[in-house]
Amino acid sequence: MSIVLKFCGGVREVSGSNHLLITNKSKVLLDAGLFQGRRKDYYKINSKFAYKPFEIDALVLSHAHIDHSGNIPSLIKRGFRGKIYTTAASKALARLMLLDSGKIQEDDAKFVNKLHKRKNWPAVKPLYTKKDAEFCLRFFYSAGLHKKIKITKDVQLSFFDAGHILGSALSCLEVKNNARTIRIGYIVDLGRKNLPLLNNPEYISNLDYLIIESTYGNRLHQPIIEAKANLARVIMQTIANSGKVIIPSFAMERAQEVLCFLSQLLKEKKMMDVPIYLDSPLAIDITDVFKKYVSFLDSATQYLFNKYDGPFPVKNMTYIRKVKDSKMLNSDPRPMIIIAGSGMCESGRILHHLKNTIEDKKNTIIVVGYMAQNTLGKRLVEHSADVRIYGEEYKLNANVVVNNAFSAHADRNALISYVMNCKNSNLKKVFVVHGDVEQGTELVKHLQQRGVNAYLPEKNEELVL
Ligand SMILES: [Zn+2]
Ligand SMILES: [Zn+2]
Repeated sequence: MSIVLKFCGGVREVSGSNHLLITNKSKVLLDAGLFQGRRKDYYKINSKFAYKPFEIDALVLSHAHIDHSGNIPSLIKRGFRGKIYTTAASKALARLMLLDSGKIQEDDAKFVNKLHKRKNWPAVKPLYTKKDAEFCLRFFYSAGLHKKIKITKDVQLSFFDAGHILGSALSCLEVKNNARTIRIGYIVDLGRKNLPLLNNPEYISNLDYLIIESTYGNRLHQPIIEAKANLARVIMQTIANSGKVIIPSFAMERAQEVLCFLSQLLKEKKMMDVPIYLDSPLAIDITDVFKKYVSFLDSATQYLFNKYDGPFPVKNMTYIRKVKDSKMLNSDPRPMIIIAGSGMCESGRILHHLKNTIEDKKNTIIVVGYMAQNTLGKRLVEHSADVRIYGEEYKLNANVVVNNAFSAHADRNALISYVMNCKNSNLKKVFVVHGDVEQGTELVKHLQQRGVNAYLPEKNEELVL
């Protein structure tokens, strides 16, 4: 018998990571991410699997981002009962993300059913509920970095630091096949060197096969150091004009990175003392996970936690959980910095802050994350003259500054350099996943030019190793 890899999701696209390793004696899944796209495809794609979930022995979860963890409740609803292996920090983050996702699924079904009722169409059910998400937490099992553990009869797993978000791990799967042992690296998602708070990504040696992401397979990032300098410059200008700085942010990692930079700028006296508000209960809960899992952070951050107040601002910092406290900011005329979600400005408290500040040119909106097509965030990035918020038109007079240097993914050069570092006489093939077709194709081309046997799988393609 042979070893087979089946690429079931997050293939030639970014979201919905899901790959299946079939060995002589077991079946192991790599990630069970949520496919994020149009509502029409969303339910169909996320509720159907290219295998029988009850036949799967174990799931390896790379990190807590929803495009990797978000479909675990569906998998369990459809019969998966194996252990889910991830790091302790990812387990804590996945808990928050999945409960939040369950609530989002329920709210979305409610919204759709309102429309369906008007048209006399049948009601829809949520993909999964908060209760389903709660149920799946019992299957999580934390595994430490650099420790080899047996996860099925013939597969051993070791985790390495991915340097992508808190708790993120690269996996090495060792499969015993007759007298041979085959080593497969799962390099999804790969972080960047010198990201605030995190360690640099680790290399895995002696791999026979490698699966690697390609989100930015053909793009180059600005250096991280520029992210901080730009942030300082824009904030100082806005405060000098007595304006407010609004930062739409994802609750996980980006919000904490921004806070970390603000804390550094305050300590270095490169920024005036202004009030900073983190206006997102989920981001606050996630920030607490950072405080609890300090050992997953880089040594500079661990030092700040052990000797001082930690890496986040203390003096000017307010964490806002209650809606009424969030609303109070609307009538506060002082210059301030507000960080709120959702990251792409499609929902959440950021909408109230945008509504309140967008028409005044002394205010600044700093975009620190990816904005997908057809989102309010994208229209801000495009500097549309008018934008719609809660069904009303607003003039976009505020300054919009895009800070592209914030990215938790390796860019083209870093991806190539990672593969070249792993390249040895054993490396037989590199599979490129987790990127749209253009990004994946270009990365494959660049790797092939360097003598690497790189390949872009099709969705649901099965390859014998
Ligand atoms: Zn990720
Ligand atoms: Zn991802």
